[in-house]
Amino acid sequence: MPYEPSLALHGGTPIRTAPFPSVSDAAGRRLGDEEIVALERVVRSGQLNSTVGAETRAFEREFAEYYGVPHAVASSTGTSAIHLAVAAVNPEPGDEIITTSLSDAGTVLPILSQNAVPVFADVDAATGNLDVACVREMITPRTRAIIAVHLFGQPAPVAELRALADERDLVLIEDCAQAYLTRCGPDGALAGTVGHLGCFSLQQSKHITAGDGGITIGTDDDLARRARLFADKAWPRDTDERTHLFLGLNYRMTELQAAVAREQLKKLAGAVDSRCKAAEPLNAAIGALPGLATGLTEGATYWLYPVFVDPAVAGADAHRYADALRAEGIPAVGGYIPRPLYLTPALAERRTYGESGYPLSAPPADVAPRYEAGLCPATEALIGERMLVIPWNENYSGDDVADIIAALEKIHHTFTDAPAP
Ligand SMILES: *Cc1c(COP(=O)(O)O)cnc(C)c1O
Repeated sequence: MPYEPSLALHGGTPIRTAPFPSVSDAAGRRLGDEEIVALERVVRSGQLNSTVGAETRAFEREFAEYYGVPHAVASSTGTSAIHLAVAAVNPEPGDEIITTSLSDAGTVLPILSQNAVPVFADVDAATGNLDVACVREMITPRTRAIIAVHLFGQPAPVAELRALADERDLVLIEDCAQAYLTRCGPDGALAGTVGHLGCFSLQQSKHITAGDGGITIGTDDDLARRARLFADKAWPRDTDERTHLFLGLNYRMTELQAAVAREQLKKLAGAVDSRCKAAEPLNAAIGALPGLATGLTEGATYWLYPVFVDPAVAGADAHRYADALRAEGIPAVGGYIPRPLYLTPALAERRTYGESGYPLSAPPADVAPRYEAGLCPATEALIGERMLVIPWNENYSGDDVADIIAALEKIHHTFTDAPAP
């Protein structure tokens, strides 16, 4: 038997003690003089609001051009970018929007906020992305839209979902908050351009950041106009009239956010390229570890790095792997989020408007939805035991990734070869 160092989890020496670059501080972000110069320009202009300045409109033009689409509407957050999309669909209260419960709450809260009912389809256990067959099963006469999330930057099956949406006269919204420059399907279409609307976030942790920020893109003139109006109190600024054409909110991006976002957009391709290159050795290493699997690597842009664990073969579940990695000095979590979104109080306990439970009551819903454990078994298995998530970063060095691999190999070896206690 070759000598095996014992796991830090069991009192052995950790592989790593130095911190990793992280999206939560300067070491893991590409923010620098370019952003400072841009911010100074805006401050000196005295124009900090997009209704008087030119930065936000310029960011929208540049983003639309980057993605090769006619329309882009900036807003204050990724959640608002999705709210704009849902509002553009204009559901009746109680209408249904099908989505995933394995996501940030920003995917789902706008549905509820627009008085539509989130309907949760299960995911593909190999990727954590929506399962098209499950989505198809959930369609009812009240379904108006589908929101697909490209989880961790892996491409969701949006070509298939777009075909389904077209067949059933639904709107497909792509949540690309984790998926800048993700490529989808054999033709490599950019995530966000396959559905009717694509939504991005510029929150601190995303591929690029302005602190907070969002942008919604699309090709359809009517959807884009409604999204734009919704973000600005439905005030038609392209006319001379001060009026409010429907119920809208103020979700405007500030000129300060836009100035930073424009500089970040210039750095996007480089950041994505670095994240993908850094992932290559880890992809190869995981391929040699029975019971562990990468998610989709083709077209993925690695917002986080998911490892799919088969506990029966890998000797432990994802949470145990995460504990062991953290003990070795490698940041990791089991399951991504602590519970599916349908089990958070806002949904499970219908904490919406007063005590009404609206719109999760019938009416306006046809049937009050039941958000309870067991609703999406594959999602629950991923969160409960099968999905290990390693933070990823554009500034990881080869040595950083080598430490992650060394720790994962050490842990895998111990968990799979350990003699029975
Ligand atoms: C971050 C995120 C959001 C919400 O974005 P915010 O900018 O934080 O509001 C929505 N969906 C997904 C998948 C996200 O990762």
